[in-house]
Amino acid sequence: MTQARQGLMYAKDPHVVIVGGGFGGVAAAKALRDAPVRITLIDRTNHHLFQPLLYQVATSVLPPGDIASPIRGILRKQANVSVTLGEVTSVDKAERNVTVDLSDGTREVVTYDYLILATGARHSYFGKDEYEKHAPGLKSVADALAIRNRILRAFEQAETTEDPVKKGLLTFVLVGAGPTGVEMAGAMATLVRRTLKSSFRRINPQSARIILVDQANRILGPFSEALSKKAQKHLEGLGVEVRLGHGIESIDGDGVVVGGERIISKTVIWTAGVAASPAGKWLNAETDRAGRVHIQQDLTMAGYPEVFVIGDTASLNQDGKPLPGVAQVAMQQGRYAGKLIHRRVIGRKDMAPFRYFDKGNMAVAGGNFAVLQCRKVQLSGLLGWLPWAAIHIAYLAHSSLRLAVLVQWLWTYLTGQRGSVLVVNHHASPHQECSRQVVHPLIASGS
Ligand SMILES: Cc1cc2nc3c(=O)[nH]c(=O)nc-3n(C[C@H](O)[C@H](O)[C@H](O)COP(=O)(O)OP(=O)(O)OC[C@H]3O[C@@H](n4cnc5c(N)ncnc54)[C@H](O)[C@@H]3O)c2cc1C
Repeated sequence: MTQARQGLMYAKDPHVVIVGGGFGGVAAAKALRDAPVRITLIDRTNHHLFQPLLYQVATSVLPPGDIASPIRGILRKQANVSVTLGEVTSVDKAERNVTVDLSDGTREVVTYDYLILATGARHSYFGKDEYEKHAPGLKSVADALAIRNRILRAFEQAETTEDPVKKGLLTFVLVGAGPTGVEMAGAMATLVRRTLKSSFRRINPQSARIILVDQANRILGPFSEALSKKAQKHLEGLGVEVRLGHGIESIDGDGVVVGGERIISKTVIWTAGVAASPAGKWLNAETDRAGRVHIQQDLTMAGYPEVFVIGDTASLNQDGKPLPGVAQVAMQQGRYAGKLIHRRVIGRKDMAPFRYFDKGNMAVAGGNFAVLQCRKVQLSGLLGWLPWAAIHIAYLAHSSLRLAVLVQWLWTYLTGQRGSVLVVNHHASPHQECSRQVVHPLIASGS
């Protein structure tokens, strides 16, 4: 048995520093469970976030504590891991160290023998960063709560305002018709048509306009044309207006201009682009247009066999195409990096180069209608939703979360009511609203 497995960490063991406790970072740490190494996992939040269900927090279906769990809790039984709450701000490849701004305001330099950068991605406004204040994106718990507040506050204001339609309070614009935009649009349509239907007296929430905009000619680009058409038809059946073929020309505090038309809207949500974390800058590495670090087939940076870059922050081609920024890629790369380091530490031969095994794509287009594409298999409707639901539940970090989400979905399905229709005071911390977070406290990232 290794020393690490007995709960003892010796300074002579190689030190693996993992930056990021998302899908890639946690998978890498777990893959090193039996390795004779000391692991320090650094994240700027204290929780691992299940981003695929963030849209359900933004649309009041789930409270944030149902889709996020403390990283310490996930790795508590793995004695060779120590978790640090802090933000990495630079990497010195020559000296093999990272600089971390710690949560107490101090700064620390942490040296490594192996480094795994798994810092994910953030929104990209394609050079129009001024859009951000009018059109927030969805990436963190804090983002989801801010969007939920905006949506619910718009209805509250509409109830007490003269002519709310003219003021754009009942018009919601989603920019970007990829999986996140489609899932948000579908969930908002069911929110207004089912959950909020009879909650107001002066306004009719069902009259709210939900407009999904994309410059592409179809929604859900990564899916087949047939599935994207079915999803669009379903969304339109729920009352979503789908506007394709025109990019956004401008966004301001009163709405957007798209295809030359001014749409007055107090709630615009950005579901379009992502850019990698600044890891490429820290490494002074070659990156693609989205800032993702070009890595080699063993997931390391060229010339630095001890530096691994994985997940959304890495760029790797397979069969001539770049791997997508999805959770499966990050998890498989995390496992690979962990196993490879283990082998190198104990002096065994390297494994074959990394190869991504694509398990398919899924997206929900409102209610219990999902599209699923896995090689030749294409499913839609409830047949797509059932595997979507099973897989999402299975991949949540804890059985307590699985149970909580299942119960909430069942409740919403039966009653139309959602778990978290709260406007939270801006100055209150997000966890004040959610009793489950007393057990799973979250520190929400604002970025
Ligand atoms: C709204 C949304 C919906 C999605 N839906 C799906 C889906 O349905 N299916 C799917 O497969 N994928 C989906 N994705 C994509 C998927 O979530 C990502 O591909 C996946 O999270 C990438 O994993 P990662 O480990 O690279 O990064 P992440 O999971 O994003 O983790 C990065 C971690 O690094 C930390 N971090 C970042 N910078 C620093 C720093 N400087 N210092 C310390 N810590 C830092 C962050 O706090 C975070 O915990 C979705 C993403 C979003 C935003």
